[in-house]
Amino acid sequence: MRLLIKNGRVIDPSSRTDETLDILIDKGKIVEVKPKIEADDAQLVDASRLVVAPGFIDMHAHLREPGQEDKEDIGTASLAAAKGGFTSICAMPNTQPVNDNRGVTEYILSEAKKRALVTIFPIAAITKNLEGEELTDMADLASAGVRAFSDDGKCIQNSLVMRRALEYSNFLQTVIIDHCEDSNLSQEGLMHEGFCSHLFGLNGIPSAAEDIMVARDIILTEAARSRIHIAHLSTRGAVYLVREAKRRKIRVTAEATPHHLILSDSALENYSTNLKVNPPLRGQEDVRALVEAIQEGVVDVLATDHAPHTVEEKAVEFDRAPFGIDGLETAVSLLLDRLVNKNIVPLSRFIEMISSKPAQILGLKDKGRLGVGADADLTILNLHKEIVVDVQEFCSKSRNNPFHGWKLKGAPVMTIVAGRIVYPS
Ligand SMILES: [Zn+2]
Repeated sequence: MRLLIKNGRVIDPSSRTDETLDILIDKGKIVEVKPKIEADDAQLVDASRLVVAPGFIDMHAHLREPGQEDKEDIGTASLAAAKGGFTSICAMPNTQPVNDNRGVTEYILSEAKKRALVTIFPIAAITKNLEGEELTDMADLASAGVRAFSDDGKCIQNSLVMRRALEYSNFLQTVIIDHCEDSNLSQEGLMHEGFCSHLFGLNGIPSAAEDIMVARDIILTEAARSRIHIAHLSTRGAVYLVREAKRRKIRVTAEATPHHLILSDSALENYSTNLKVNPPLRGQEDVRALVEAIQEGVVDVLATDHAPHTVEEKAVEFDRAPFGIDGLETAVSLLLDRLVNKNIVPLSRFIEMISSKPAQILGLKDKGRLGVGADADLTILNLHKEIVVDVQEFCSKSRNNPFHGWKLKGAPVMTIVAGRIVYPS
C-alpha cells in the first residue's frame, strides 16, 4: 500500500529542509519528496497546516519487560510511544532478568516484532546484573543487534571497569549511555540537596553526585578516544563540563528530559511521589542552565526517561516510593508548549534533538531523516492543537505523571512507522 502525505510543512533538519512538500511512501520507504506529487493508487493523508517531521526517537525508556509487566510491557509501551509521536524507542536493560546477555536481547527483539507498533532498540547492560563489576559479553550483544550499552538506574563506581567499557564500546562502534551518579554521595537522598530539601525535611542528593561522574567519564572517554552519551543531564555543573568537553572536541553527547527542563525542586512542596525522580528535579539555576544548554547545542538530545510504576507503588510515603516519571505520552506536547511555542527553541532545532540527533548517535542511517531511501518513519505535529493531560487516558499501564491536568498547546497527531499509520489507529 502506497501512502501520499500532501501539503505538509516538511521539516528535515538533516537536509535543512523547511518547506511545503508532498512525501510518497512505498514498501516502508520514502520514495519521493517534492511539491505536488500525483499518485492515484496511494492512500492520501492531508497534512495541510501540519508539520511533517522525521519519526521521533526516544533514546531512553524503561519498558519493564521481561519481569515487571504489572508496570508496563513491550506492547503497552509501544502504544504509548505511538500516541506520543515516537516511531522508535530504546529499551533500557534494568529488567528482570537484566538484559545482560543475548537471550534477553533476542527475547525483546522477537516480542517487539510480534507485539510492538514502533521499532524497539534494546540497550544492553554494561556490567553483569548491573552490579558494576564484571563486563557483559559486549561483542556478543553487539552482534545480537545492540547499538548502545548502559547500566542506567545505576552508575559504575569502579573507574577501571568504566575505562574498559569505553574501550570495548569504541572497538565495537557502539555507544555508552551513562547514568552519572556517585552513589556514596547520593546515598539515601530523595530529592535535590538545597534550600528546598532542608525546608521539606527530605534527604538531599547533591549536584556533586552527578558532576563528579560526568567529569570522570569525560576524562575516561578522552583517554580511551571513545565516545559517550550522558543520560538525563540535570545540573548546572554538568552542563559546564559537557560544554568544555565539546569545546575540546571530546566525543561527548548529552540528553535532557522534559521534566528537568520544566520543573524545579520547589514543586515537591506537596510531597507528590509522581515528582520523585532520579536524577532529582534540581534548582531553578540548574533548569535555566539546562535550557541555555539546549539553545547553545551543548545538549544534543531530548529523551523521556519513561519510567512507569504502578499506582500502588507510588501511593506510599515519599521516602518509600520508587523513582520515576511515566513520560512517553506527554513529552512532545510539553516540549512544544514550553520550548517551541514560547520561542525558546526553534521548531527545527527541537525536531533535530528528538529525531536526527538520536539517529546519528545510535548509528541509524535510515532513520531521523526524510530523504528518498530513508525508512518511512514520520511524526506529524499540530502546533496549534490544545490538549489537557489526562493520565486516565494513557495507553501506558502506569499513571505516574506529574503533568496531569496541565493545558498544553501543540501535539503529535499522526505517527507512521515503516509506512504504516500506527497512530491514530
Ligand atoms: Zn538513569
